[in-house]
Amino acid sequence: MKRTFAILLIFSNQVFSMDLQKADTYYDVQTTAQVRNKDDKIVSAKIILPDLLAIDELNGKYFRIVSKDTEEIIKIDSTGKNKESLRAATAYFHLTQARLFYKSIGVEQKELLTVRIGIENKFHKKYHFQDVTRGKMFNDAHTYAEGFGVTKYNIDIAAWGKEIWLRSPKKIAVSDEFKQQHRQLVRSLIPTNTYFDWDMLVLQTLSALVSHNPADYIESTGTSLMKSYSTNMSIKLIAPEISLMLTADHFHLDTALIPEIVVHEYTHFIMSDYLPTVENTPIMEGLSDYFATKITNNTKIAFKLGVHGELISERDSQQEVLYNRAFDSGRPGNLGSGAAYVLSVLTLIDSHFKRYERDINYAPKLFFEMRKHLTIDSKINDDLSRALMSAVPVKYRLSVLAILNQTGL
Ligand SMILES: [Zn+2]
Repeated sequence: MKRTFAILLIFSNQVFSMDLQKADTYYDVQTTAQVRNKDDKIVSAKIILPDLLAIDELNGKYFRIVSKDTEEIIKIDSTGKNKESLRAATAYFHLTQARLFYKSIGVEQKELLTVRIGIENKFHKKYHFQDVTRGKMFNDAHTYAEGFGVTKYNIDIAAWGKEIWLRSPKKIAVSDEFKQQHRQLVRSLIPTNTYFDWDMLVLQTLSALVSHNPADYIESTGTSLMKSYSTNMSIKLIAPEISLMLTADHFHLDTALIPEIVVHEYTHFIMSDYLPTVENTPIMEGLSDYFATKITNNTKIAFKLGVHGELISERDSQQEVLYNRAFDSGRPGNLGSGAAYVLSVLTLIDSHFKRYERDINYAPKLFFEMRKHLTIDSKINDDLSRALMSAVPVKYRLSVLAILNQTGL
């Protein structure tokens, strides 16, 4: 007789999370935030911020908005004149819109989200913040995982929950000198450095754009940057248009004031129960972009930025993109175009469902479920179609396969 031993493994995959902030009374406070108007321009408007614990600061049941690398809650300024308050209120408003959308499709936010406005430090997964003397960052948005903190060797860093960082804009001049430095970089690397390629140029450029000192970054080596900047918002928006960017004069991005960017980051946060925010992939970026267009009811991302940013190109969900094997190469330079493909194919499938289903959120409900069939290593080629097949009902499998086929997958 065969005897089977069951080995019980106790997994301790606990992560730190911050509880929602409970109070006897929650306040709705009217203030000023930036929203898109009927012509899709970003303008100031009077809005209501719900679920606040006090009437004068952005500390709520679901979100707390803090300044830079401190735990100082940002005050409400109803005039909209204080820029930090305006950024914080705008983020709070669009995060709430995203939360309510997810609630409407049956997804509840279960943990408190901290949002940092204007933070310049780089993130450190153990120590939370790197010292700013080690470099500052601007023009970027990112969702970070929680950490346990450190309480030994006289270091006292508290545990933190999930966070979204919305950095300050900074105009970076793309001067003739800057362009010249690039050409020299390319020339100097080609004969000596075998791993130099197009991605490297992209990364060096992006590094320069998010740092306060382009020259420093251009001189630094690319491999470590390649890892950290593959998780970066800017790369997603700019990578495909990099050559054009080298002909532009300036770059800046005020991420807290751009609704689609805030909603995109919230999507990373709310999907992080299955897809941790440690690395961005074309599938994760494409999903976040898809939900950003859906929730803000826009077909484009980071368009008509006005004074809030200068980009070479926005991302358009209506623009059809054909699958290319390079999207799955894992190289950061392909993250943008891979995400554009995922956004475009999900949008196509959504329009297909809309012809037959009355529920306008039929597609987003299914697409949200897809995260359970994906990991941070998932490739578009096999895993996206497999996840779609697992998420869509049998009656739609053939038509979804046909759509994937038409787009080259
Ligand atoms: Zn993202």
